[in-house]
Amino acid sequence: MQPLFLYNTLTRKKEEFKPIKPPLVGLYVCGPTVYSDVHLGNCRTFISFDMIYRYLVHIGYKVRYVRNITDAGHLEGDRDEGDDKFAKKAKLEQVEPMEIVQKYTVGFHDVMQAFNNLPPSIEPTATGHICEQIEMIKEIIAKGFAYVVDGTVYFDVEKYNKDFSYGQLTNRKLEELLEGTRELSGQDEKRGRLDFALWINAKPETLMRWPSPWGWGFPGWHIECSAMSSKYLGDVFDIHGGGMDLQATHHTNEIAQSQACNHKAPVNYWMHTNMLTVNGARMSKSAGNGFLPGELFTGDHPLLEKGYSPMGVRFFMMQTHYHSTLDFSNEALQASEKGFERLMESHNTLQTLKAGTTSSEDIKALQQKCYDAMNDDFNTPILIAHLFEAARIVNSANDNKLTVTQNDIDTLKNIYQHFVFDVMGLKKEEENSKTTAVLDKVIHMVLDIRNKAKVEKNFPLSDEIRNKLTDAGVQIKDTKEGSSWKI
Ligand code: AMP
Ligand code: ZN
Repeated sequence: MQPLFLYNTLTRKKEEFKPIKPPLVGLYVCGPTVYSDVHLGNCRTFISFDMIYRYLVHIGYKVRYVRNITDAGHLEGDRDEGDDKFAKKAKLEQVEPMEIVQKYTVGFHDVMQAFNNLPPSIEPTATGHICEQIEMIKEIIAKGFAYVVDGTVYFDVEKYNKDFSYGQLTNRKLEELLEGTRELSGQDEKRGRLDFALWINAKPETLMRWPSPWGWGFPGWHIECSAMSSKYLGDVFDIHGGGMDLQATHHTNEIAQSQACNHKAPVNYWMHTNMLTVNGARMSKSAGNGFLPGELFTGDHPLLEKGYSPMGVRFFMMQTHYHSTLDFSNEALQASEKGFERLMESHNTLQTLKAGTTSSEDIKALQQKCYDAMNDDFNTPILIAHLFEAARIVNSANDNKLTVTQNDIDTLKNIYQHFVFDVMGLKKEEENSKTTAVLDKVIHMVLDIRNKAKVEKNFPLSDEIRNKLTDAGVQIKDTKEGSSWKI
């Protein structure tokens, strides 16, 4: 296997990737908080890690990819203040919190599928791992790094920092971090300004709460990822990822929790994706500048000039390195759509390309350049430049401006298959429309049978057909002009 280098946030260096137990790789990515729809910024992070996962698998690793679902314990403020976001939404929509969780988890999966993201190997939920979180909190208390005040358990950051380095992930000293945090008031329960809640005491009217050794309550946000990553990947594992916005608090606290328990750094490589911005401002749920993927596909948003295809958007994301910010603009998306079409057209041309007897280009070297780009911290923009070079060669060979051998054609086919489809996770959009066209024909065939049954007054059969279509998720509309359907 060729060496793979990746940028480690913890050491602030590009390092050669050496898994603990090759060919196994443990990869944990912080997943969505399912109290609302994911926006395009969230999607950028999940698409980037999908590409990283795909490349690790492509070069021969056996990856256990864990991406959690945060479905409890998420307060509005980063500092353990405010309402539980799930309970607030449930009250607003007058439903159970678990209905909120279900609705947005299903929506999240639909979006991931639209972008052709592979499902993770394990997708654990916070509410499904309350026992593990309680056990871990007990361990942190036993090790002397947490204290209980009125049923709430706080992590003692200053005490922890005497033995370990709390700000190591962001390269900040404790004093600097303390300066940036507001003074405690008489109302605060916690002892130190940076202390954070591991378990939060809940009032009887709190909708989502569980019994614990400290009374009824719910877990703090950070403990779920420590508990679930160690359960599925071990106390020390290879790669932990998420958006850069998680570095300073969520991931810093994850390291502290795990290290307090095991006295070992939990993760060898920390990887962070940079933010998707709109006019320079970070796209976020709270700022309200987030497009939902559905709005992006239909174009139904004031900032959008038209609808964009999921693969055009995925290609747009691949054109910037995951570690750089990516600013949304209609022009950039339209340019990406054109580039994506150009790549797909050249792939079609490649299928009918005639082999010559001589080689004008070194295609093997081009293939190696694609690997070199990916081995250099998953550099997809450089990879795409090489893929456009492949497209140029294909088109020139087709126009008889240069010649390629059968070997060259086979290597070019491998380049497209491996890098465009397997690693970048792009797929031909026409495959979707072909499937829809076939489905349309099949449904109309079934509707014709139903119409015949109606004409013959065989109503039990016509009703049965309609009911079965409804069960399958197909909604039928009968009009004078005929019947139409939608899913
Ligand atoms: P959340 O559902 O808010 O917890 O976020 C899910 C994931 O999306 C986390 O890894 C975040 O770091 C990431 N994320 C949030 N906003 C953005 C953004 N504007 N650009 C890229 N990633 C983001
Ligand atoms: Zn997390």
